[in-house]
Formats: sequence, C-alpha cells, structure tokens
Amino acid sequence: MVSFRFRTARTSATLAFVGALVAALAAGSPAFGVETAVQTGRPAPPKPSTSTGYGGAVASVDAEASAVGLEVLRKGGNAADAAVATAAALGVTEPYSAGIGGGGYFVYFDAATGEVTTIDGRETAPAEMTATSFIDPATGKPYPFADAVSSGLSVGAPGTLATWEAALDRFGTTSLRDALKPAILLATRGFKVDETFRQQTAGNEARFRQFPDTAELFLPNGELPVVGSTFKNPDLARTLRDISLRGTDVFYEGPIADEIEAVVMSPVTTPDHVLPAVPGLLTAADIADYAVIEQAPTHIDYRGLDIYGMAPSSSGGTTVGESLNILENFDLSADSMAQSLHLYLEATAHAFADRGRYVGDPASVDVPTEILLSQEFADARACLIDPNTASTKPVAPAPLNAAGCDALVVADAPDAENLSTTHLSVVDRWGNAVAYTLTIESTGGSGMTVPGRGFLLNNELTDFNFVPATDLWEDPNLPGPGKRPRSSMSPTIVLDGGDVRYVVGSPGGSMIITTVTQVLINRIDLGMTLPEAVAAPRASQRNTTAVAAEPAFIAAYGPPLQAFGHVFSSTAEIGAVAAIEVSDDGLMTAVAEPVRRGGGAGVVVKPAD
Ligand code: GLU
Repeated sequence: MVSFRFRTARTSATLAFVGALVAALAAGSPAFGVETAVQTGRPAPPKPSTSTGYGGAVASVDAEASAVGLEVLRKGGNAADAAVATAAALGVTEPYSAGIGGGGYFVYFDAATGEVTTIDGRETAPAEMTATSFIDPATGKPYPFADAVSSGLSVGAPGTLATWEAALDRFGTTSLRDALKPAILLATRGFKVDETFRQQTAGNEARFRQFPDTAELFLPNGELPVVGSTFKNPDLARTLRDISLRGTDVFYEGPIADEIEAVVMSPVTTPDHVLPAVPGLLTAADIADYAVIEQAPTHIDYRGLDIYGMAPSSSGGTTVGESLNILENFDLSADSMAQSLHLYLEATAHAFADRGRYVGDPASVDVPTEILLSQEFADARACLIDPNTASTKPVAPAPLNAAGCDALVVADAPDAENLSTTHLSVVDRWGNAVAYTLTIESTGGSGMTVPGRGFLLNNELTDFNFVPATDLWEDPNLPGPGKRPRSSMSPTIVLDGGDVRYVVGSPGGSMIITTVTQVLINRIDLGMTLPEAVAAPRASQRNTTAVAAEPAFIAAYGPPLQAFGHVFSSTAEIGAVAAIEVSDDGLMTAVAEPVRRGGGAGVVVKPAD
C-alpha cells in the first residue's frame, strides 16, 4: 500500500489516498514511454531560451529537464505530469538547487474547473526545535550563519517527494513511477557538465571536501568535474528506482528516513575539518510525520488580471500581491520609465516591511493573509509613497487597520536568505498550468549527502530568524516545533478572463519576490514582450537603505533613480526566471533566461513557423 502524506490547510487531517496511484504503480507500464536524449544517445537537447508555438510549453533553467517535461506533454501527459517529471530531472542536473532532500511550492491551474490550487511542500522543523535552537549554548549567541548552513541543525523534514506524489494524485494522469523514469535514466547515463555546474561545484569545493560522502559524489576522483565531461549519479538512480518500485514509504518511513536521521544527528566530517558541522534534531519520526498541505492560493486583481500565488508559509504570494496592489494606485508606463521604477522600488519596500512583521507559518502564528492582500491595506501604503522622492529606508510595517500615512523608521533587517533554488513553468494543450519552485535552500544545501543515496540534504531551517528581528513585536519567523520556515518562493499563475495568461517564478532568496513582481510589471505595464521582461536588468528593494541592482540596471537607470534619492549596491545577478505566456489565440511563448545562470530552456510542443 502506498501511503500519501497529504492534508488540507483547513482540517490538517492526514489522509491516505490509494486507488489510481496504486493501480498505476501495480500496472508498471510506462504511460508515456518518455525517451530523452540521454536514453537514445542523441546529442544534448537544444537550449533555446525562448520558443513560441502550440500544444504545450515548458520553461526551466536546464535543457535536459525542459526536454523531459516536453516529452511528457508530447506523449499526452498533462501539466502536472510534466512538472513532476521536469522537477525530478532537475534534481539530477541541478542537484545543488533542488532534489528529494528539499522542499517547494506547487501551484496548479485546472482549466476544466477554472480553479487554482496549491501544495505547500515546505520542509518542517523537527519536533524538538525551539525558538532558541539556533543559539550556540557555548557562547549564548546565534551560530554564525555559515556554520549553521553546513550543519545538521539546519536540515528540515524534506517535502519534495511528498509534493510530487500529491501533485500526481490530485492533478496528474500518470504514476510517480513513470514520472521518475526520465530522471532515473538521466542519473544513470549522465549529463554534460557545463560551466554553471562546474562553478557551483567550485563554489562549494571547500565545504564538500569536509564531508567525505559529498566529496565522493560531487568531486569525482577528488577533482572538480570538467566542463564537457559526463556526470553520472548511479546512487541517485538507485534511490529513485527504489522509490518508484516501493513507493515513497521507502523514503518517509523506511531506511532513507533512518539514514537521514543518522547524518543529521552525527554529521560525518574529515578529521581535519574546520566546519563545526553542528548536529541537528531531525529524527526519522519527524520525517514519518511529514505532510504536504493543500491550500487556497493567494489572489489579487491587478489591472483586470487575476494573480494567483503561494499563501503562507511562503511570503511570496502576499508580498508580490501587496506590491502589485500598491502599484495599482499609480500609472506605470514605458514613457516614464524612471518614475515607474521608482514606484516599483517604493512599493516592494513597503510590502517587505509588512512581510517581516506579519508573515510566518500560519500553523504556528496568526498571519493576516487576507488583510495583507486587501486593496484597502495597499491603498494605505500607497499614500505613504511620494511619487517624486524615495523614502528614507527602511520603512515601518503598517498597522493592520492601516488607513493613515504615519511612517516610523526601523532598523535595516539583515537578509540571510540564500540564492539557490530553481523554478519551472508548464502549460499543457488543455490550458492547465503549473508554476513550481523547489529548493534545497543554499546552493549545495547543507553540504551533506545521505551516504550512497546520491542527494544533498537541505539547509532550509536557516530561513528562520535565529533571533528576533526586532523587539518591537513578536517575530513571526522564529524556529519552532514542526514549523515551516518563512519562504520567499513565489510561483505565480496569472489568469485573464479565466484562461491562463502568464506562468512565472524564479529562484533568488528574498529577491524572488521582487523578481516576479518586476517581470510582471515589465510585461503588463512597461510595454515589454515576455522575453524582454525576463531579460531586462533587475533591481531588488527589500526595505533596505541600498537597493540591490544588477550592473546593467545601474548603468541604464542609476542616474535618474539616484535623482529620486535611491542608493544602489551592485549585485552580479538577480533571479533566474522561467515563464510562459499564452495569447488569446493559444500561442504559447516559453521563456527562460538568455544569460543568467548560464541560460535556460523554454520549449514548446509544436513550434510556430
Ligand atoms: N530558501 C529560500 C526560500 O524559501 C529560497 C532560496 C533561494 O531561492 O535561493 O525563500
């Protein structure tokens, strides 16, 4: 019997679903007979950052993964089937950003019912975790962030596999077994190492070397993988095959859970390690207790479009939503670019102030989601914005009954979120859509692999605030038992008159929120096509004194925005978007980054001439 870790936000009751999934697993025949380049020995799939056409579309940061999703669509699978297969493939080719050791958020639009549903597959804290778990008893101070990243303490109960199972059961037409097949093939036959993979490995080399099991996996023969060589992961292939044959219990209630507990409780390091590799609290029982949550999406109306996102535990939906609601008070246009960007920067600053004040895991703290998404609340924020002058940052959060324009000044909140993660967008021939962002938090997660299993464990619990961010109010994002750390992931689906218009998402830590917001206003307000909106230089104002911005943004808009009073700090790259647009006549434009993160792949089933 296949148990299914799934509960609704309303009842929190764990339900067991069998039926179709069991039947599909028992039947054992591939529903779609997916063949990838890896399987057939063809050269690596092409990597167009943008494609237009019909019949279905996939966008992701990786050509192999997008090709896997496309093949599922071609063979008759729907958006959920393709999204899970693509995500599993990303776990192979993007192992430092995603995989079964992590978590994520899955947003699904069902064209037949017109409903948007979300699955919260965020990692959870162990039952033993408390508000002070990240305080080092030896010093009475929080662990240094870098030490916490590479520690057992930061590992949460993984939600990704349960998300895939839930997504297929709720929305899909295939079995988990079939959805994992292309990933198993990829892991077995390997993928071509590119510059991005090598660089990400190099960036992690020192800490990977301190965890011998990780070094063995990602530093073959003790060396960095060479660009152009083939990287295979037979351990992961075996693990995924085991799961596909025996069900997710192997992971959640079987040997893998025990092995995860062993790694977390007693991290294995080299004798000369300098990382403290603090042991953690996660037990096999915590992993067995893991359940994804199905819940309603966030929703706002923006310029006549319906914007759906991820409700808390992610702050993505409320913060993107509040930002856009604030911007609805102003006219944005390409004719007044500097002014429009000024308003964008101000809007997200205010929305971030409220995010910090109010958003955490709603199972542990009261989150005023409805108020944060209300137009009235946003209007009260908008009246604090001077169209001609940047506010003195950081701005204070608004009271929940906000109606006035009183502004306090609070201290800059340190932002410790990392810049890993990956996003995929899918639309199928029926107009169903998926926006799915998944992560293991830092690039390389905790740096710890489960020996012989081929995947990295997350360090998602570093998304908690280790100490209260302020003493002015109770911090909603302190660690707690079973709690989900606040996320910024913002998988977003935009409907126009009930049909899917845009699917958008990105990695980038808290810059995910501004990236998604900026791409949407670029497309909706500032006269850009979707490929232009994605490629355009980015800036991210998260309620700090200086605005993080890419060098190209500063070159293009720095001087006019400095005249408004904005101050910039240069950041090499912000986000890595994967998006899709569907026009009124059904033409699909799949868009990945042309340059960031080495470029991604946006592909369609039937390319337009
Ligand atoms: N852990 C982050 C979050 O949930 C995502 C990390 C990233 O995008 O790099 O918001």
